[in-house]
Parts: sequence; C-alpha cells; structure tokens
Amino acid sequence: MIERWNPARVHELAGRLPISDGAAVDEAVRRTGAAQRSWAALPPERRVEVLRLAAGVLEGSPHLPELLARETGKPLADCGGEIRFAATYLRWVADQAPRALADQEVDDAAGRLLLRRRPFGVVAAITPWNAPIILTMLKVGPALAAGNTVVVKPSPLAPLAITEVLERFPDDLVRTVNGHAGTGQALAGHPGVFRVAFTGGDAAAREIGATAARMLTSTVMELGGNDPAIILDDADLSDEAMDRLVMASFATSGQVCMAAKRLYVPRAMSDDFIAAYVAAARRTIVLGDPLDEGTTVGPVISAEAAARLDGLAGASLAAGGEAIELGTVRVDMSAGHFVRPSLLLGLPDDAPLVAREQFGPLVPVLVYDSEEEALARANAGELGLAASVWSADEDRAFRIARRLDAGFTFVNTHNRTGMALRAPFGGVRRSGHGREYGVEGILEYAQTCAVHAPAPFRAGGEGLAAGAYPPG
Ligand code: NAD
Repeated sequence: MIERWNPARVHELAGRLPISDGAAVDEAVRRTGAAQRSWAALPPERRVEVLRLAAGVLEGSPHLPELLARETGKPLADCGGEIRFAATYLRWVADQAPRALADQEVDDAAGRLLLRRRPFGVVAAITPWNAPIILTMLKVGPALAAGNTVVVKPSPLAPLAITEVLERFPDDLVRTVNGHAGTGQALAGHPGVFRVAFTGGDAAAREIGATAARMLTSTVMELGGNDPAIILDDADLSDEAMDRLVMASFATSGQVCMAAKRLYVPRAMSDDFIAAYVAAARRTIVLGDPLDEGTTVGPVISAEAAARLDGLAGASLAAGGEAIELGTVRVDMSAGHFVRPSLLLGLPDDAPLVAREQFGPLVPVLVYDSEEEALARANAGELGLAASVWSADEDRAFRIARRLDAGFTFVNTHNRTGMALRAPFGGVRRSGHGREYGVEGILEYAQTCAVHAPAPFRAGGEGLAAGAYPPG
C-alpha cells in the first residue's frame, strides 16, 4: 500500500492506494495493447474528442486542487492553476493534432509518395510528483491523439489526484499502475510497450533508459536542469520585474525542473540587485500551509528532500559565503517539511549548490564582470534544460540567448510564466531528449512511415535497370 502523508502536516494522511505488482502491470499493458489497434483506426478528429472530455473532467472536479495540495504541499492556488493549465493544454492538442498528424501525399513526376503518421502502440508514461497533472497530460494527450494507448506510472509521492483523473478516461485507452521503482521497471521493460515517456531525475532516467534499451524500446526523457538566469546591466529592477524573478525561483519551493536556479548578476549592479531582490521576496514569499490563503511557498516534498537541502547548504557554505533568509513565515515550520527560502551569496562555482541542481528553495547569486564570462559560466556543466536573459534591450537578450546551451531560453521571465503551448520544451545535453508542448510534442508519439510507388514502375513508366539507383 502507498500511504501519502501531507508534507505540510506530517501527521495527516492525504490518502492511500494499492501498489500494482508485476501481474497488474502485465494486465494493464495487455488490456491497453488489445484496445490500441481499433483506437488507432479511428480518425484523429474522433480520437481528440477524448481529450476535450478529459479537459472537462479536470475543470469540473472542484475537490482536485485540495487533494493535489495535500499530497504535494503546493499552495492551493498553484494546484488550481496547474489543473486549469492541463485542461487548456488538452484542448490545444485537440485543436492541433488532426492537422499535425494528417497524412501527406504527393503525386508527381517522381512517383506517388504517402507519408503517414503511425502510432507506436502502447506508451508507458513514468512521471514525477512535482506537477503530476500537467506532466502526465503532456504525455497522455499527444499519445492518445496519435493513436497510442497509455499505461501511466505516477510518482508514489503524488499519486492520488492523478490516479483519480486517469480513472475518468475510457478504460483500456489509459490504465494506471501505482508503485515505486520496481513498478516503473516492470513497465519500462515490458515487451508490450513500444515507447517510454519519462519525466524525472537523472538516476531514474539511467535505469529506465537501460531497461528500455534492453527491449529496444525508444524513449522520450524530460530530466533536470540547473537553469541560469543572466541579469544584464540594463535589466529592469522594478518591483514588478523583481517579483517575477523571485517567483521564477521559489514557486513550488524551487522544486521545478525549469526554475531559475543560478542568478548571474553584473558586479557593479550586485548591491542594488540584492536589495531589490530581498524587498521583492518580502512582498511575494509567504511560507505557510498550502491550504492557507496567502501562502505562496509551501514545504518541500519529504523529510529526505529537506535533509538533502540542509546538507547541500552546509557543504556549499563550508568554503565561505552567506545565506540571507527571504520572505515571511506564517507557519510552525516543525509541522511539516519546511525549508526557509534563502539567497546564497559569495559561493564559488564548484559549490554543490551552484554546480548541481538544488531542486529546492536555496538560490545562489553569482557575480560576473563581463558578458562573455557570464555566458561561459552559465554554460558550464552537463545540463541544459532552460535559461533566461533579463535586459531592457530585447535584441541583445536574443543575441545572448542564441549562445546558451538550453532547450528553452526565456527573455525577461523564467519558469511557468514564460511557457507557451506552441513552443516546444525539452533539454539539450544531459537534460534529456525529445520535446513536450508544441507540434513537436505531438509528433513525439508517432513515427513517420512512407508508402512509395516510384514513377518508373507505375503504369506507363519507363522502368529502371534491375538493381540500379533511382535518378533522385
Ligand atoms: P524521480 O526520478 O525520483 O521519479 C520520477 C518517476 O520515476 C517516479 O514515478 C518514480 O517512482 C520513478 N522511478 C524512480 N526510480 C525508478 C527506477 N529506477 N525505475 C523505474 N522508475 C523509477 O524524480 P522526482 O523526484 O519525482 O522528480 C524530480 C526530478 O524530475 C528533478 O530532477 C526535476 O528537475 C525533474 N523534472 C523534470 C521535468 C522536465 O520537464 N524536464 C519536469 C519535472 C521534474
């Protein structure tokens, strides 16, 4: 049994769910596999109707935000926002997918060529806890639209709301298996699965990738980032801009793949910047119980996460540096896994908090002397999920953005406020492969297959010498 305790109130049970064993995984793959061919035979226009119905379910379940808040520790308003955004995304896929997935046919002097988008079959979706509704819909929506069926394995740290949502999808198009790494492994390595879509950390990604590779199953991987935010010397330090920058790092207590995780600031501006940042944090960060009105930052997900962050801060400050506590606290921090949001100053580039993804509310400010230096330091390391450039001169920001090793670069914003449904999102380097959002995010779930009648062999054609290459 999975028991999920509220991370903000450690003695409150948010809910429990049975663990799916190997036989349950097998059954889920078998049932979705049996339904897949007839599902794929429907035209995309019919298939996307399921996504519109699912969007209605998300919006028509008023208790869902609170359930999500109790299991994740995210503020209630954020949970409502995530659910509404997921519904918006499903409708967007429903609008876009029929055109994106349509057959393309040419019939000309070279012959007749049909390009058809064929689904993979059964897709396994293995998802994290930090935004379980949207991160699951980013896989389920396009996969179903393209004619696949899906088995989802949610994170055991936030399985409750998403399992409830998935139960409202037509049975056998989508099935849910709950559990820990073992359940994920059984699913990723199942011979009936032909694509694995994973979002999560690098350790799990390596094991899932290895398991999928043994079956020659292809993968899409959305992994972690250590996103730099480069503040240029002409950046707007107004209250409104600074509030946006603060929440780019501290929304969901910093536990977001695309949070601003390292802030690069020009030396001459650093005192003004830090003063403006601390003032913005006083306005925007209210550490509290996720169900209390006014809370903008909740606890971290678990006792292990809190201990890891504590260790990271200790190890990073060992060689010098200073922590500034941010915002206001409106909760007894011992009631849950609360970590005080902090800015860290004066850390060297090899401090663990700078060199690695912290995935929590501790954010380093790093001072630079030239744009070239800022770029080189921002591009250091092996990750490349997102980044941002902050400047009053948009062209200048875009010039710098072109040189960043990032799958997505925001200009004058960062994190979810900068997302667009039409803009593909995903990592470069070791932040993953494949894309979500955008038309690219739909096409991840179909393979282009060709049917070709070469002109020389069509009725009236002139033929080609046996074994010869075609002219073009
Ligand atoms: P995680 O990797 O621990 O878990 C993700 C999922 O994988 C869960 O369902 C988990 O049960 C499963 N899992 C874990 N180990 C497994 C194994 N060995 N075999 C099979 N399944 C296994 O990640 P998390 O703690 O839930 O999320 C945090 C990480 O996810 C961070 O690194 C974050 O940056 C990343 N993330 C990335 C994106 C993105 O879009 N790029 C979005 C959100 C989170």
